[in-house]
Amino acid sequence: MLQLLNSELFAEKNIEVWVLRLDKIHADYGGNKILKLKYHIEEALQNDCKTIASFGGPYSNHLAALAAYGKSHQLKTIGYVRFQGDYKKYPTLVAAEKNGMQLQFLTNNEFKIAQQKIINQPIDLQNKIYCIPAGGHTQLGIKGCKEILALDILKKSRDNFTHIFVPVGYGTTLAGIANSASTAQKIFGITAIKNGEELNEEIKSITTKKNWQLLTNYHFDGFGKINQSLIDFMTKCKVDFDLETDRVYTSKMLFAIFDLATKNFFNSNDKILAIHTGGLQGNN
Ligand SMILES: *Cc1c(COP(=O)(O)O)cnc(C)c1O
Repeated sequence: MLQLLNSELFAEKNIEVWVLRLDKIHADYGGNKILKLKYHIEEALQNDCKTIASFGGPYSNHLAALAAYGKSHQLKTIGYVRFQGDYKKYPTLVAAEKNGMQLQFLTNNEFKIAQQKIINQPIDLQNKIYCIPAGGHTQLGIKGCKEILALDILKKSRDNFTHIFVPVGYGTTLAGIANSASTAQKIFGITAIKNGEELNEEIKSITTKKNWQLLTNYHFDGFGKINQSLIDFMTKCKVDFDLETDRVYTSKMLFAIFDLATKNFFNSNDKILAIHTGGLQGNN
């Protein structure tokens, strides 16, 4: 679904802002995560693996999506979680477990070692387990995200957008979009962590495209952090546009677009596409 935001601010600046609702792909595993998982799962099945394992923290939308997808497609899932303590306080982990994911808790060090081990050998042939790195941050993940701009719903309009905005965690989604956008389109990644500049090198190492740029000042004091002005903004999106956003990624990206519009960052007639990457289950 493609949603035009009817905002006085955008009318005044003579710009259009459209939201691509990847969150609407599926109620339980909608968002960018299913695209990052797609080719990993395909490879798992080609290798006769019916168990899929992956890595994440206690707020991992990636593990939540993998668990939900696994449940609806009769696949077993294992989540290696970098966390010690009472996981029942974390709705994302509780939801993943409810969807049949077997959770295993690792210390930082164990997590690092376990991830390192699977980079070169993702398949446990003996136990038929396919292992995906945290966040699906691989070339297969990027390949899945390349399909975002190729979605049917964008067929007529994709080349008309002057700007594309996407929230950034690892930058897999941004890289997929950069690889498939036209050279005239400017892609802006809104980083969710505090020192987002550090992601520049990593993203340069996974895409050769130069049509993108990170905006690192919209993290609201860090990953998952929230303040009253962001809460008010999320309420405004809900009330004014019937647009639900998550508190980690999509709210901050949309906030950036409104803030930049206020500051006359855009030119008259610009058309902006904002990618709603999902994550709504994390709001619980
Ligand atoms: C994981 C996630 C992202 C970040 O995606 P990357 O490809 O890691 O940059 C953005 N938005 C939401 C809602 C997510 O869950």
